[in-house]
Amino acid sequence: MTAKVQTTLRGPEAFSLARRAVEEMEAAGVWPTPLNFELWLHYLGEPNGPLGKEMQRLIASGTAFTEGTAEMLAAEYLPRGRLSEEIRDAGDVLNRELSTVSEAIAKAQQSQAAYGQTLAGASTQLEATSEPTALLGVVSTLTKATTEVQAENATMEKRLETSTREVARLREHLEQVRRDAMTDALTNLANRKAFDEELLRACDEAEKKRHPMTLAVLDIDHFKRFNDTWGHQTGDQVLRYVASVIGRVSKSPRVAARFGGEEFAVIFPGESAAVVEAALNAIRTEIGARSLRRRSTNDELGAVTISGGLAQRRPGESGSELLDRADAALYASKRNGRNQVTNGERLEEAA
Ligand code: GH3
Ligand code: MG
Ligand code: MG
Repeated sequence: MTAKVQTTLRGPEAFSLARRAVEEMEAAGVWPTPLNFELWLHYLGEPNGPLGKEMQRLIASGTAFTEGTAEMLAAEYLPRGRLSEEIRDAGDVLNRELSTVSEAIAKAQQSQAAYGQTLAGASTQLEATSEPTALLGVVSTLTKATTEVQAENATMEKRLETSTREVARLREHLEQVRRDAMTDALTNLANRKAFDEELLRACDEAEKKRHPMTLAVLDIDHFKRFNDTWGHQTGDQVLRYVASVIGRVSKSPRVAARFGGEEFAVIFPGESAAVVEAALNAIRTEIGARSLRRRSTNDELGAVTISGGLAQRRPGESGSELLDRADAALYASKRNGRNQVTNGERLEEAA
C-alpha cells in the first residue's frame, strides 16, 4: 500500500473509505474480492494517483473488470505489495519445512536414546545370566530394537530428503521472483530498477579500483511514427529485436537495460569512451542494415535506426551526473540528424 493510503486506513476516514469501496464496487458490478477491495481502497484513497487514473479510465470505458484485469493492475501499480506477498508465502513454507526437520531430529534423538537404554539393559542382563533361554530373550529384544531404530532412521532420512528438496525448490522460486522483479518483461533485459542498482554498484567499483567505466544510452529514432504506421504490437516486436542485438553484445560484465519505453542503457565497466563508441557504432550499423518484416503478414517494414550517446565516468562522478552527460550526448545525436553515436567526451572538448 502506498504510505498515504496506509495512513488514511488508520485514521478517522477508514470506515467510510472501506464502505465507499464496497459501494463503488457494487455500482461498477465488480465482485468484492480481497484484491479488488485493495485496488478500490487505493483508487478511492488517491483518486488522482496513477492507479486511480487508470481505474477511472477503465471504469469509464466500460471494460469488464475481470480477475485478470485486477491482477494486471496490481502487478503494475502495487508491485511491492505483490512481491512481498510472494516472499511472505515463501517464508511460511520455509518455516514449515524447518519445523518438520527439527521435529524429525528430535524424534530421532529420542529413539536413539531409547535404543541406547535397550543396549545398556541388555548388557546388564547378559552379565547377570548364562542361561540359553535368557540369552535368546536378550538377543530377540536387541534384534527388535535394532529393526525399530533402523526404520526410524529411514523415515527420518526420507523426511529430510523431502524437506531438502522442498527448500531447494523454494530457493529457486525466490530466485525467480527476484529475477522477475529485476527484468523487463518485454525484452528480458534488466529493467530500470535493476539498472539503477547496477549503475550505483559499477560507479562504486570504478571509483575503488580507479578503473575507467563508460555509460551509453540508446534510443530508437522516430519510433512514434513507426508505431503509428505499423501498430503497437509490431512496435513491440521491433523493441524485442533491438533489445536482442543490444543484449547480444552486452555480455557480463557489461549490463544492458531497458531504460524507458524505447530507450536502452548499457554500462561498460572497465571500458573507455573510445572502445564503447566503436561498440555502439557496431550495434547501430547492424540494426540499421536489417530490413524488418512483420511476422504475421510478412509486410516489409524497412529498417529502424537508433541514436546513441556515451560518457566516460570521471573520478568522483556519481551515476546520475554520468547519466546526464550520456543523455546530453544522445540529445546531440538526435539534433544532428539521428542514426549516429555521439561521444560525450569529444562533445565537451568541442564546447
Ligand atoms: P526520437 O527520434 O526523437 O526519439 O522520436 P521518437 O518518436 O522515437 O520519440 P518519442 O519520445 O516522441 O516517442 C517515443 C515513442 O515510443 C512513443 C511510443 O509510441 C513508443 N513506445 C514507448 N514505449 C513503447 C512500448 O513499450 N511499445 C511500443 N510498441 N511502443 C512504445
Ligand atoms: Mg525515440
Ligand atoms: Mg525516447
